[in-house]
Parts: sequence; structure tokens; C-alpha cells
Amino acid sequence: MEKVISVSMGEIALKGLNRGYFEDQLTSQIRRAIKDIGYEKIYKEQGKIYIEGEESKFPIMIKRLKKVFGLVHISPCIRVNKDMDQISKAAILAMKEGKTKTDIKTFKVDTNRADKSFPIKSPEVSREIGGLILKEFGDISVDVHNPDIYIYVDIKQNTYIYTEKIKAYGGLPVGTNGKGLLLLSGGIDSPVAGFMMAKRGVDINCVHYHSYPFTSERSEEKVKDLATILSRYTGKIKLFSVNILEIQKEINAKCPEKEMTIISRRFMMRIAEEIAKYNNYNGLITGESLGQVASQTIHGIGVTNDAVNMPVFRPLIGMDKVDIIDISRDIETYETSILPFEDCCTVFLPKHPVTRPRVEDIRKSEETLDVDKLVKEAIENMKIYSIK
Ligand code: ATP
Ligand code: MG
Repeated sequence: MEKVISVSMGEIALKGLNRGYFEDQLTSQIRRAIKDIGYEKIYKEQGKIYIEGEESKFPIMIKRLKKVFGLVHISPCIRVNKDMDQISKAAILAMKEGKTKTDIKTFKVDTNRADKSFPIKSPEVSREIGGLILKEFGDISVDVHNPDIYIYVDIKQNTYIYTEKIKAYGGLPVGTNGKGLLLLSGGIDSPVAGFMMAKRGVDINCVHYHSYPFTSERSEEKVKDLATILSRYTGKIKLFSVNILEIQKEINAKCPEKEMTIISRRFMMRIAEEIAKYNNYNGLITGESLGQVASQTIHGIGVTNDAVNMPVFRPLIGMDKVDIIDISRDIETYETSILPFEDCCTVFLPKHPVTRPRVEDIRKSEETLDVDKLVKEAIENMKIYSIK
């Protein structure tokens, strides 16, 4: 009788021919998430992945595993041989442990016989184990519809008995859906946007724009902290930190004041596209949400988009702020995002930004600028951090 952790995979099970690839990616993400905690072995057995390790480390392992995309449920299990006597003992132990955690009056045994060579059929296994549990514990009864606890019995090469299905995020393993460059500000939205794309399998890297010395070093620290929190989900992140003060000064000197924000936004997109192309990333990601602020009107986003050719993903586009905040709390970026440090966009903030910019007008205003040179110089001076 041994304790192991099992993880179930959601959508990956549907991936047909690619399934092996997805499972391997998931396994390597699991390894990354728990490697510093220390485990003994990770193995696959008929549709689930199992982790062997010291039981005392299970709580911290489970906490980490909850952040691995592609996992749907996590369960601490008792592993025994395919033997009714051992299975019964394990089921009784699982019930004892369950009773120490909550008040249990009713239960149900739920058997899944993946190994059809096992001679006893699932309903019979459930009935037999249920009977033994009733005999062992005088104070509980069976409820097949709404039990306080399920005793799950998975009969495979080994047999696994467990009572908990701890919910994880689902999604797809990071790295199975290309690479993206997230425009990461210090705000609430962009970290959530990065999280959502990572959840669909995109390997995330980040670019941040600042206006040092107009913005402080501490606001760059804040962004590094946000990237660190994101890296708990994604693994290692490259963070490109770009000073755009010179660009902002140029725009401020040569373009209409009300176009400051939209033109800086277009520069952010251009610089991001250059970095992404150079590093073979497949797309850009922003935290824009339709109508949330003056620069995020449908016109504003259209004009921002006009500056680049690469696909731009905006996973928050149709979301309300309150719902974005809920996610940001859940993924633990919120407390950092709300720390009060200045953002580069506030340095030359126009009093009345255009809310219905027209591409032709903005392109015209930009003719006064040496766009390529400004982009090139900003990139030459950027810093690159490796975030873990
Ligand atoms: P956030 O909460 O992500 O800062 P926001 O609601 O403040 O978003 P804007 O300031 O209009 O919205 O920015 C829209 C998007 O542009 C951001 O979500 C982010 O992807 C990108 N962006 C804005 N400022 C920066 C910056 N300083 N560095 C990198 N990306 C930025
Ligand atoms: Mg912002």
C-alpha cells in the first residue's frame, strides 16, 4: 500500500493522434512545477499521470500542480495491487482519513474498471466494498445520489483508491500552442491576458515599456514581480524592458497632443512585433478590453492594430472589469497590480485623448517622425531579464 498523487487530463484526452505529444508536454510541465520539491517518479497509466514521492510533501506538490495547465483534477491516492482484499483495506483507510477532515454521514463507492481482465465487474466491486465499509463504520450509510463522500476505485495495472478530486485550471500544457509576446504593463489587465493565453498552451514572454527616469525603477520591479507570479504557471519567462521616453518626447514635440496615447500605443506594438519576429514568437498579446478606457474604443483598437502585421490576441476583449479583477485575484496578481507606481502612459497624458482616431490622420501625424529609427534605437537599448 503506497500513497501517490494522480492527475487527470482534460481536453488532452481528445487530441487524437497528437495525444502522446500533449501528454509528454504535460509531463514535462509537471516535472518543472515540482522539481525543486523533490519527487521520486512520474509515470503514466491508462489515461492518468501518477507521481510518487514523500507523502509529507503532497500538500505543497498539489498547490504547485494546481497551476499546471492541462490538468483537470488532482487526487491523493492509495495505490494497491489488483486484489480485493487490498482494495478493501485501502477503501477503509480512505474513509477513515476522509472522516478526519469532514463530518461524513453518507458515502458512495464509484468503481472504474479500466482493466477489463479484472474478473469482478465495477458494480460488484462497489457493492462489495460498500458492504465492508458499512460493517466497519457503524455511523454512516450509503447515498447513491448525493453522498458526503465518494470512494473512487480505479482498477488499472494497479488499483488506485481516492476520495478527493481537487480542481485545477484545465486548459492545455504550456508550449503546445506556440509562443507569444505579452505587452505587460503594471496594471490589472495584462497579467490576466497572459494567464488566459498560457492556459490555452501558449508559451509566454513579456515586453514592458517604461519612461525612466520619469518612471521609477520600482515600477520596473513591480513588473518583474508580476512576471514572476505568471511564471508559476508558465515556467521561465523572458522579460524585455524597453525605455520609450525618447519616443514619447518626439511624439510630444511633433504630433497633436490628443494623439499622444494612440501614437505611443502604435510604437509599443511595433517594438513588440520586432522583438517577436526576432525571437520567432507567433503573436502579440495585450490586455485590451473593448471600451474600457478612451484608447480602447473600437476605433482606437483598430488604429493600434494598424501598426503591425502580426496576429494580436486580446483575450479580455469582451470582458467586464469586475470579472477581470476576479481572475486577477484568483491567480494572485491583483495585490501586486494595484500597488501605486507610475506607468509610462501617464507621463505625457493628453487632457482630451482622441476616442475616434482615424488611421489616415494618425499615419499622417507619424510622417513627421523617423519611425524606424526610433524603434531601432529603443530596441538597441532594451534590457532582457530571465524570470523564474
Ligand atoms: P493594464 O491593466 O494591462 O495596464 P489598462 O486597462 O491600463 O491595461 P491600457 O493602459 O490602455 O489599459 O493598456 C492596454 C494594453 O496595452 C495593456 O493591457 C498592455 O497589454 C499594453 N500596455 C499598456 N501600457 C504598457 C506598458 N507600459 N508596457 C507594456 N504594455 C503596455
Ligand atoms: Mg495600464
